[in-house]
Amino acid sequence: MMNNIFGELKRLLSLRSLQARIFIIVLAAGFIPSVIVRYGILDNYEDHSVQQRISNVQNQLIIVGNHLISNNYFNTKPEGYSSSVSRDVINAELEMISNLYEGRVMIIDSGLRVVKDTYDISEGKTIISEEVIRCFQGVNTSNYDKDHGYIEMTTPIIDATVDSSEIVGVMLTSISNESIVATLEVLNRKSVLVQNLMVVVAVAMAVVLSIILTRPFNRVSEAINEVSAGYSDESISVPDYAETIHIVDAFNQLLARMRALDNSRQEFVENVSHELKTPMAAIKVLADSLLVQVDAPAELYREFMEDIVSEIDRENQIITDLLALVKMDKKAHELNISSVNINELAELILKRLRPLARKKDVELVFESMRPVTAAVDEVKMTLVMTNLVENAVKYNKEHGWVKVELDADHQYFTFKVSDSGLGIPEDALSHIYERFYRVDKSHSREIGGTGLGLAITKSAVLMHRGAITVTSVEGEGSCFAVKIPLSGVTGG
Ligand code: ADP
Repeated sequence: MMNNIFGELKRLLSLRSLQARIFIIVLAAGFIPSVIVRYGILDNYEDHSVQQRISNVQNQLIIVGNHLISNNYFNTKPEGYSSSVSRDVINAELEMISNLYEGRVMIIDSGLRVVKDTYDISEGKTIISEEVIRCFQGVNTSNYDKDHGYIEMTTPIIDATVDSSEIVGVMLTSISNESIVATLEVLNRKSVLVQNLMVVVAVAMAVVLSIILTRPFNRVSEAINEVSAGYSDESISVPDYAETIHIVDAFNQLLARMRALDNSRQEFVENVSHELKTPMAAIKVLADSLLVQVDAPAELYREFMEDIVSEIDRENQIITDLLALVKMDKKAHELNISSVNINELAELILKRLRPLARKKDVELVFESMRPVTAAVDEVKMTLVMTNLVENAVKYNKEHGWVKVELDADHQYFTFKVSDSGLGIPEDALSHIYERFYRVDKSHSREIGGTGLGLAITKSAVLMHRGAITVTSVEGEGSCFAVKIPLSGVTGG
């Protein structure tokens, strides 16, 4: 259990793991929007409240402004008068506004003189402020000073009784933003709470999702581990995601290939044991039969000994072929490439095989179209040529013939061996390169075949990146053709 938890934690901490990435994505998906929404709402609220406050104050000031005009507060008209009663009413209204909005209202006349200040500080003074002057020119301004915590605005006092609606004064108002800030603080506290809650939920979801979503991949590795540890040798199945299905399919294919390889290896070992046991069994039978005869004549001993020697030779031949085959299984870069005169090599091989051909009364002909020099492994190429020509002689009829042809183009050379022999049945053609395969086991054994010759030949040809093909008609003869690149093996 503890190990499990540590395992999960370790995976979460490693950024390379899918689990860690899912964790981070889910966490970000939960957290980032909540932060954006929080700051967005708070900012929006502040702007909105400030605007609202400005327009409320402006509306009230416009009403007060109208009262000022109707009560002739500035006393601009010669026939007008301003009673101290109506002045007091207006002053009371101004006081009320400044108390209500925790601010200060100043009334400035067209001579930039402060006629009324609710703070009673600047009355009678002249004020030269850009905002006031611009307001006299008809431009209303409002300014929110967040750092000092106030909103400042100008409101024109318009005398609509004259034709041109003249601006006769300006109200310069500054109000506190305290109530907005207080509400903002409450909102902020609440949103921090909600945000923390969301972070907790996002973390919980990130942990749960990262574990749940990656579980199928853990199941895949568990199943693969079980197979590699040997607890199970069946195909595995994790059908949770399309991805896991693909991984598992690929793994099952690999498993099937490994099983096929294992089976073929087992079959090979069985075949090797069987092939090696056959001459041994024959030797034992021969020796036993000599032993049971108390006074066996010397000729019988001699005859049996000759048979025993030929069985030992056979055993030796099988072991030599097996060793050659095992060497072929090594990689292509272990080829010992050198520039070889193929014409000379073919002549040499035919010379070696002539006694065998003569023994079987088989005519051996060599036809070379042109001189050929190629970059090949001489030992392996000798094996290829010898095996093909030897087979053509071995599986031939009395008075038959074998024709060896050598030709080349600018890329490949072709070594062709045709014979007038027994031919190979069609259904056997696809098997002749298999190890220990023989069309007629007893006949092949009689003439000393091990069933490994063509397997060795094919391996050697493939190592040279060449190709081997065969055409054959049963009872008429066969033709084996080998095509090898002249330039040797390039690349691994
Ligand atoms: P072996 O050592 O028995 O000759 P090979 O692998 O060389 O084994 O050949 C496999 C089988 O293919 C032989 O047993 C034989 O039946 C058949 N075969 C090979 N070459 C020829 C050929 N030129 N003509 C007829 N049959 C052949």
